[in-house]
Amino acid sequence: MAEIVYGSEIAKKIKAKLAAKMQALKQEGKRLPKLCVVLVGNHPASLSYVTGKEKACREIGMENDLIRLPQDISEKALLDFIQKLNVDDAVDGILVQLPLPAHIDEHKVLFAIDPAKDVDGFHPISLGKLMLQEDTFISCTPKGIMRILEEIGYDDLSGKKAVVVGRSNIVGKPVAQLLMNKHATVTVCHSRTKNVEEIAAQADILIAAIGKPRYIHASWVKEGAVVIDVGINRDENNKLCGDVDFEAVKEKAAYITPVPKGVGPMTIAMLLENTLEAYEKKEG
Ligand code: NDP
Repeated sequence: MAEIVYGSEIAKKIKAKLAAKMQALKQEGKRLPKLCVVLVGNHPASLSYVTGKEKACREIGMENDLIRLPQDISEKALLDFIQKLNVDDAVDGILVQLPLPAHIDEHKVLFAIDPAKDVDGFHPISLGKLMLQEDTFISCTPKGIMRILEEIGYDDLSGKKAVVVGRSNIVGKPVAQLLMNKHATVTVCHSRTKNVEEIAAQADILIAAIGKPRYIHASWVKEGAVVIDVGINRDENNKLCGDVDFEAVKEKAAYITPVPKGVGPMTIAMLLENTLEAYEKKEG
């Protein structure tokens, strides 16, 4: 029977430390770190994500601004807006909530963010530095996954086999790189991979980032594996669930993260941490 690893608990501890840091800055009479979240349009899931981020900032006493822009804003107007945030000295972190409306080139927008304020870690400079193992902003979900692994004693991954199911730019690819940086032997699977089940069943560490409710069955999981479930899905009863068949897999794994209360809260905690890091780099 697996130990259930609650990211929500780890995140709570991280947020408590960050809150103490905010308090100390306040007492020293210093400017507080500020995160600006830009939301274009009214995508309901995006609205709920940005509200969560705003709430987390408030909880720890970090300055924050949620900027809502109309769905039909032109690409140029959005780029101009980001440029204003780039040059605003009071702003430490900029996050543009994805997805953007179809008429806007997402890459152009992410590239427009000043890398020094790229707390989401999606700028090509941040991603390139991650590959080169240089100091940079690491995107929040992959960073949160690595922090969960550290928490359970999986820090040096030498000799461990890791399998990442999913190859998105925001989760699968960066987490595969981070696992490799920690010396794991990494296999990345995706929708064109044959025999994913057999590959997954060899993993000491299995990361599921697919976006399909309870897709990963117990037969995909090696006895004693660490299973990190990134997926956020709704099942046939509209209940929140991950990519992993939690009830069955928890009987086989050594560690498993639940959904909700697993990776999700860690993503937000890492965003706050990255914003503080941006502030500290700026303030010296
Ligand atoms: P994407 O849709 O961008 O990527 C999904 C990946 O899964 C793709 O690489 C796709 O392959 C692969 N895939 C799809 N079907 C299969 C299959 N049958 N077998 C193997 N691989 C498959 O999703 P994201 O990476 O953005 O997100 C993944 C999940 O994680 C979603 O549920 C999302 O909501 C959640 N998420 C959670 C976060 C959190 O904080 N907890 C943060 C970000 C995402 P291909 O490339 O070939 O299409």
